[in-house]
This record gives sequence, structure tokens and C-alpha cells, in this order.
Amino acid sequence: MSFIIKCLDCGDAAPYFPTSVNCPRCNSQWREARYDYESLADTFLLRLDGQPFDLWRYRDLLPVQNPDPTLSLGEGGTPLIRANKLGMMLGCPNIFIKDERQGPTNSFKDRQAAVTVAALKEAGVTEMVAASTGNVAIAYSAYAARAGIKLWAFVTSLVPAVKMREIALYGSQVVKVTGSYDQAKQIAAEFAHQRNLYLDMGARTITSIEAMKTIAFEIAEQLTLLSAPAFGSAPRRTPDWYIQSISGGMGPLGVAKGFAELQAMHIVERIPAIAAIQAEGCAPMVTAWKEGLEKAIPVTSPHTYIETLATGDPGRGYTLLRKWIDKTKGVFESVSDEEAYRAMHVLAKMEGISMEPAAAVAFAGLFKLVRAGVIKPDETVVVNCTGHTMPTEPFLLGDQWTRNVDLTERRAEETPQEGLLSALSHIAPDRFPRVAIVDDSPEARQLIRRILQAQGNYTIYEAAGGKEALQMIAREIPDLIILDLMMPEMDGFSVLDSLRASPATAAIPVIVATAKELTAAEKSRLTGQIQALMQKGDFLNDEFLAEVSTLLREG
Ligand SMILES: *Cc1c(COP(=O)(O)O)cnc(C)c1O
Ligand SMILES: [Zn+2]
Repeated sequence: MSFIIKCLDCGDAAPYFPTSVNCPRCNSQWREARYDYESLADTFLLRLDGQPFDLWRYRDLLPVQNPDPTLSLGEGGTPLIRANKLGMMLGCPNIFIKDERQGPTNSFKDRQAAVTVAALKEAGVTEMVAASTGNVAIAYSAYAARAGIKLWAFVTSLVPAVKMREIALYGSQVVKVTGSYDQAKQIAAEFAHQRNLYLDMGARTITSIEAMKTIAFEIAEQLTLLSAPAFGSAPRRTPDWYIQSISGGMGPLGVAKGFAELQAMHIVERIPAIAAIQAEGCAPMVTAWKEGLEKAIPVTSPHTYIETLATGDPGRGYTLLRKWIDKTKGVFESVSDEEAYRAMHVLAKMEGISMEPAAAVAFAGLFKLVRAGVIKPDETVVVNCTGHTMPTEPFLLGDQWTRNVDLTERRAEETPQEGLLSALSHIAPDRFPRVAIVDDSPEARQLIRRILQAQGNYTIYEAAGGKEALQMIAREIPDLIILDLMMPEMDGFSVLDSLRASPATAAIPVIVATAKELTAAEKSRLTGQIQALMQKGDFLNDEFLAEVSTLLREG
């Protein structure tokens, strides 16, 4: 591993010392690591062979001389998971989730902490300071504990108490700052300066950007394995989009640099378009980019409950990230807290992936960009699920999320089974609304079933074809039918005609859910025959459910 530290302001090239953070020539703190990409080009991929799938398999491109294996907690190597239901709901089949929740401290900050702490340990550092909205401090605390480094963690008072306690549990000193995140950073910097301690400097920390690159390396490797059949024989290593929720933007800065390095080594042909998503109440980068500004105007009092993303003053981070976004034809976008909470529900209920609201911001951004046509149906998208450390807050569920079974008052003469059964009858009434799903695609039936069962209690019947559907409907007389149009043998139009011709089934409400672009003639064939038309790939579960519950209430 040979590399130099290049100053982004004066171009000076200096050797690397983790604790010297200024350019020796011009004093700038904005510098980055450069490696000898041409000579690495021949060996980089070969040397990965047989290495464990963790962050350190890329050590040829990391600024740590001899990473101490005893510090490792198994960082990196998180799975890339295909999101099938989400893909169907959005009409974009190639959506992948980089599941950073599965890192040792449950957010992608553990990459940054692992590499930075390894470098600091190598440099003999024993005490350090970091300002954090929670996850950075948790990640540094864990690695500092292993490395015998004392961490002073400056957090704002809005950081959830559970996160603060976790930081303290690791043995770090929590300093609670009543003020904004930007103010906490200033106080931390003054403290570090007075005591002459090493200070984490966010996106200016060379090891942090270098650590985040490994996300790009992993995606390139994983996409080659996962997507090859879908794209013919040619390995596809670069997704069309990389989407991440951002605060200071360190993640996408690192990921873009990672893909650029792969490109410099002729391993990939291009860098994905970067979509950086901010919370609406604290979106200085989005505002600046949309207005074409060179510099972001700081947001002094952020209005978002998503504290993790509350960098009000991105400083130079904006200028650097903007360069990548413009170069890759990416976007900055913002979403409301409510949109993020909704995305949280969709991902948990449809994909089995629960995340903290900050991570859900990226998914809400995905929904918005797909709907706006910015992301095209055939494009490959990787969304970084950046973290999961926060327990689900009560307001995210509303009331009635639990049904209670109380067995303490069970009468003595009852057998245990009787008591249990009568208790269970309180949980589930005898008759739930009955819904028939008619679709030839098993995946589509499963998606619709999942949307229904995740949000309420229904008795669900399924049929894979028209003839089977008519028999089932005549037998069960459901309260609602969800009908596909394009089916082999007997299509949805014919099913509708038969249903309406028979007095027993003529009045059952029907929602047509179809992937078909309807012609004017087809539309008029449906008019008056159905209660709602939903385009598959164009509905998210809340709209669909609103339609379902209205029809069941009216029926
Ligand atoms: C830190 C963090 C972010 C924002 O990361 P940046 O790339 O530094 O802007 C997003 N989500 C979670 C869960 C985080 O911990
Ligand atoms: Zn310089």
C-alpha cells in the first residue's frame, strides 16, 4: 500500500500522519488520500481472492499500515439485499438495499470508527474527542473501548436518551450540549484544542472518507454476483443510482471516491448517479443545489425530529458533494419527517427491514424520485440502509398496535385450553372482512396479501386464474375482489363480465390492479364495472389500503 495525502487547495503531496490534520504548506484541512491506481489495477481484484468478506479485504486502498486484528468487531461485509416487494410496488424491479444495520454498532458509522481508531491506535493516540448526533459516538465508543482510547462524546440534548446511555455504557464520557449540532461541534473543537486532544473532523477526516469507500467496493462485488443473470452474462458492477440519507455527506463522498478509484483501476466503467437525501427541516444542501448556489446557507435551527441528520452548516462538504452529484447527474432531494415515517412502515412491513427514521429518509427519497420519473423503471438502484439503533418510538405506531391477553382471572373450573380460547376470542373476532385476490403472478398475490395482512385483519382467498377465481368467488362470496386483467386463458375482463352477469356476485366491489397500460376502449369497458383502478408499480400501500377500507366500509 503506497499512498500520499494530497491537499485539495494547494495540491501539496505529503506523507500521512493520522494526527497531523493540516496541509504542511497551506494549512488547509481539506485533503485526501491518493494511491497508485495504475500499479494497483493489475493486482487489486486478484488479491481479494480468499480474503474474508469484511472491510479489511480492501486494505490495499486503506490508510492503515498494519491493521490490528484484535481491534476488529467484524466491520464491513454487510449484505446487499434485493427488495422484491418494494420493486413491484414502485415498478422498479432492480432495487437493492445495502444493509448497514448489520454492522457491529448497527449503523454505517462503524466503518468510519473501525478505520479511524485503527489508524489512531497505530499512531499511539489514547484520548479523543467527537461531536455526534448519536451514531458516530456509539461507533467510536465501541472501537475506542477495544483500542484503549478514551472518548469524549459531545452530543446534543435532542439525541435519544437510549443512544446516550449506550455511549456511556461503552465507558465514554458523554457531554450533553443544549444547543444545535453545529454548536456541539464548536464546543467539542474548543475542548479538544484546550486539552490538545485528537478531534474527529467529520468529512475532513481522511480515514473516515477512506472507510466509506469500502461500501462502494462491496456493492461492486456484490452486484456482480447478484445481478449477473438479470443483465445477461456481462458483470454489472456499478448501479445506476446510489441513494443515501445525509447529514454532513461523508457517506456519499466516500462512496463516490470508491467508485472513482475502481474506475481509475479499470474495474468499473462509471460512477453511479448519487442521490443525497436530507430531512426537509434541515436541508441546506438541497436548497443550495436547487438554487444553484456555490455555498450552502446554514440552517441555524433545524426543524426535524430526525436528529441524526441535523447538520445545519455543511460548509465545504456541500461544495465537494455537489461536484460529485453534478458529475454523476445525480440529485439532492429532501423529504418530510412524515414521509420518512411512512417509508419506515413500508420497509418494515413489506421487506422485514426495520430501521431508524434517519435511514428511512433515503427510502422516502427513493419513492419521491421514482414518482417524479428521475429514477427510471429499468435502472438499478442501491439504497443505503444506514442504521438501526433506535427502539421504535410509541408515536410511530399509534394506538391499537397490540391486543392483550389476560389469563390472570381465569376461573378455576376452566381447563387451560378453554381459558386460552376465550381469551383469544377477544384478540380476533369471528369474521374478518373477506378479500379475494385474483392474479396469475404468485409474486403479485404475495405482495397484495402482505399489504393487507400488515395493516389489518382480513380473511384472504387467492386464485391464480379466471376460471378458478369464478368458482372460488361463487363459493365464498367475498366482501371485495382485487383483480388482475392480464391472465392467460380467461382474462380479467371476462371474469368481470361473468361476475356482473350472476346475481350472487354482481354487487361485490372490485379493485382492478394491473400492470397493463389501458387503451381507451379497455378503460370504457371497465367504466361502471369496477370501483377502483390501481396501476401496479404505481401504488404505495397506503393509497391501496385507503381504497380497500373505503370499499369494505361502504359494502
Ligand atoms: C450519520 C448518519 C447518516 C448521515 O451520514 P453522512 O453521510 O455523514 O451525511 C445517515 N443515517 C444514519 C443512520 C447515520 O448514522
Ligand atoms: Zn495545501
